[in-house]
Amino acid sequence: MFELPEFVTLAGQINATLTGKAIQHGSLGNSPHKFVWYNRRPDEFAELTQGKTVGAAYTKGKWLFIPLDPGYVLLFGECGGRIIYHPADAKLPEKYHLWLAFTDGSSLTAMTQMWGAMELYESGQELDRQYIKDMRPTPTEPEFTYGYFSSLIDSLLLGEKRSVKGLLTQEQFIPGLGNAIAQDILLRAGLHPRRPIGELSNEQRHGLYNAIGSTVREAVAEGGRCDETDLFNHPGGYVRLMDSKTAGGPCPVCGAPIEKFQYLGGACYICPRCQPAVTDS
Ligand SMILES: [Zn+2]
Repeated sequence: MFELPEFVTLAGQINATLTGKAIQHGSLGNSPHKFVWYNRRPDEFAELTQGKTVGAAYTKGKWLFIPLDPGYVLLFGECGGRIIYHPADAKLPEKYHLWLAFTDGSSLTAMTQMWGAMELYESGQELDRQYIKDMRPTPTEPEFTYGYFSSLIDSLLLGEKRSVKGLLTQEQFIPGLGNAIAQDILLRAGLHPRRPIGELSNEQRHGLYNAIGSTVREAVAEGGRCDETDLFNHPGGYVRLMDSKTAGGPCPVCGAPIEKFQYLGGACYICPRCQPAVTDS
């Protein structure tokens, strides 16, 4: 599934490649799939997109916004799969869930993996969509300061008990992060996924905040994770430190064998030495 770095990469590539192109024909795909969330009928989508021009794309959390001017915004969200640009005369994939054909002969196709939203809104109405309305600051936004992050933890301490993995991956507390990037963030912060957020010292809060920022920035700079593909169908350059490929192998920091276990709806990969389960101090 795409996380924040993959969406930031796609938005940048769309702006360099698609912005300014005019749509000749829009289609909601040739491969029905009940886990694709559409909000338009195919005929309606075709009618509303025809003649529109691609504007400047941007990302918020796990959502990609592509203005179709005038008056509309195409939204991809909570999805994985392929969002791919095809130059004129390139062969299109056999199956797709969305296709925009441009007047210069080039195309964009999208194919979800698992599930995801492909929705078209009148400009402004996309901001009222569930999960986008009232979204908290994301790690690529200036509002995501240490002061904000620390107050987020304080506010969560008033509710049910939460772990650091829960903080990173549940309920969009930090929009855009997911289980994949969370593994590397927790190694860099030296925190076990089960560590309760109420036990974090000020120093550990700072360390976690810095690990979120540095990991996201590095993954963005590398063009997203290497197990996802970009607009040109190329894998990203960010190789995760902690995942199924490195499990059992040496920790990149200390050399201890990386362990795997299931926790909070996904696999965790930790170094037992760098990420101790309980506080020593
Ligand atoms: Zn280690």
